Amino acid sequence: MFEGDSKRPLLERLSPRTRMGLSQFPLTMILVCLALAAPAAWPGLLGEGLFQAALLIHALLFLLCWIVPWERLPPVATLSIPLGDMVAIVLSRNGALDYLPGLGILLIFPVIWLAASGRFPTSTVLASFLVPLGMGLVPLLRAPAEATATQLTSTVLLALMLLAVASAVRFVTATMALQQRKLERKDTDLRRLLESSERRESLLKTILDTIDVGVSAVDTTGSVTLRNHQQEIFDRTGVSGDHLAVDGPGAPLYGQDRKTRLPADKVPVVRATKGETFADYLVWIGDGAGARALSTAARAVNDEAGDFAGAVVASNDVTSLVEAITAKDEVIATVSHELRTPLTSVLGNLEFALSEKDPEVSAHYVEIAHRNAERLMELVADLLLSSSAAMTVHPRETDIAGLIDSVVGSVAPQAAAAGIEIKTDVPAPLWTHTDPLRMSQVLDNLLSNAIKYTSTGGMVAVRARTEGGQLRLDVRDTGVGMSPPDAARVFDRFFRTSSARTSAIPGTGLGLSIAKAIVEGHHGRISCVSAPGKGSTFSVSLPHIAS
Ligand code: ADP
Repeated sequence: MFEGDSKRPLLERLSPRTRMGLSQFPLTMILVCLALAAPAAWPGLLGEGLFQAALLIHALLFLLCWIVPWERLPPVATLSIPLGDMVAIVLSRNGALDYLPGLGILLIFPVIWLAASGRFPTSTVLASFLVPLGMGLVPLLRAPAEATATQLTSTVLLALMLLAVASAVRFVTATMALQQRKLERKDTDLRRLLESSERRESLLKTILDTIDVGVSAVDTTGSVTLRNHQQEIFDRTGVSGDHLAVDGPGAPLYGQDRKTRLPADKVPVVRATKGETFADYLVWIGDGAGARALSTAARAVNDEAGDFAGAVVASNDVTSLVEAITAKDEVIATVSHELRTPLTSVLGNLEFALSEKDPEVSAHYVEIAHRNAERLMELVADLLLSSSAAMTVHPRETDIAGLIDSVVGSVAPQAAAAGIEIKTDVPAPLWTHTDPLRMSQVLDNLLSNAIKYTSTGGMVAVRARTEGGQLRLDVRDTGVGMSPPDAARVFDRFFRTSSARTSAIPGTGLGLSIAKAIVEGHHGRISCVSAPGKGSTFSVSLPHIAS
């Protein structure tokens, strides 16, 4: 049996046959008792043909209750039993008229059964009056001379009484059915309401889980009562820190300057649990390179009575946005600085030239101004290139060995002047699918740098190979080198190591960022391995080697 079965009412758990058998049982029992008592109490009763026929019908009906598969028949078929009972009772009453004239009262059983069934209400009520009336009148009409007023009265009274019983049962059953229908309607409404609220809840959850903003609901003590998918990710990766757990052991929180520890009363969730409503409140979480910027917002939640019941806190990871804004500010500051230096020199030297009487000295000032103007021009060209290089790559079949040869040739005088030896280890030809103009720029930058940052007597080596379907190009020098953190930043725009900045070596810090953009425009990679005093190696790898 299913677990749920034991919770259903007993009547519902019974099979239709058992129910029919039990409904018939009281009437059958009364008749069995009468039959048993008859030989002693009413000798001759069992000899009455009508009474015998009635007993036989009752026995048959009782048997039918237990053997007919009622569940397979239409419900109305069950009414055949009380109707059969009526027939049997009429027969038994008239068969036992001389012994038990009050036997007709047994009609109360089928009358209740029929009325309670709720089917054919008018016919049922009529039958409950007419059957007892007919049952009493037929014997009286057969011998009208012997009929007494008492017999007539008791016949009518019985008919009226059964009519009253049928009407009362019918009324109670109808009322109960009405109540039942009302309950069922309420049940349906409730179920619909529940379904719609479940649908809304699931929709809300999907919406909350779709957005990449962490959302959590907290109670008045700051304990989390609900959180969305993004918030779960934040919590798992430690981004939520103690802005969610009031006294939690999360990562430290800092203000906008990334340095000042946030006082306890400024922690977003603490502000939220005080009922504060805020938005775009930026906090930094964690230290060093792994620090994240969170833009937080909170709104108070009130209960039905309008009292503060908690808050909803939202946090958005805006680290890349904040870093992009900072980088942009840095670039603008550096560009302004880089442009101002040669511009100041141009203006200053032109002023000197204008006020100078000696044409020779004046020409010298003009020459310096011209040199700085050219540097300015170079700077602007580099700046434009650094932001457009990746987009203007036009690859075609190119012999990279030939390119290396020509670039080495062009920087050779510079290397010779600095007393630096250039070695090449490149198999020729080395066909690649690259933009020759742009790749020459990359090679020129790597080789010029290698010469620029290597002292006299040093060596620069260029090596190129095809490896696993890729071109691998290394430019190694025995120069000043740099620390690994500096090596990791050489491809950033305007980055120059502090030694390069303080030395007299000219440079803008744009060359390598342009080289990187060109290499990436070819879907390749560029990297640098270096150590202070030990020299540097710049490596380029490019896919798409030509056959
Ligand atoms: P620039 O050389 O004009 O300053 P780059 O973008 O070409 O700009 O280089 C950025 C910085 O990287 C240089 O200023 C220098 O500090 C460092 N660097 C580049 N190449 C080398 C190298 N071969 N050896 C040592 N430092 C280098």
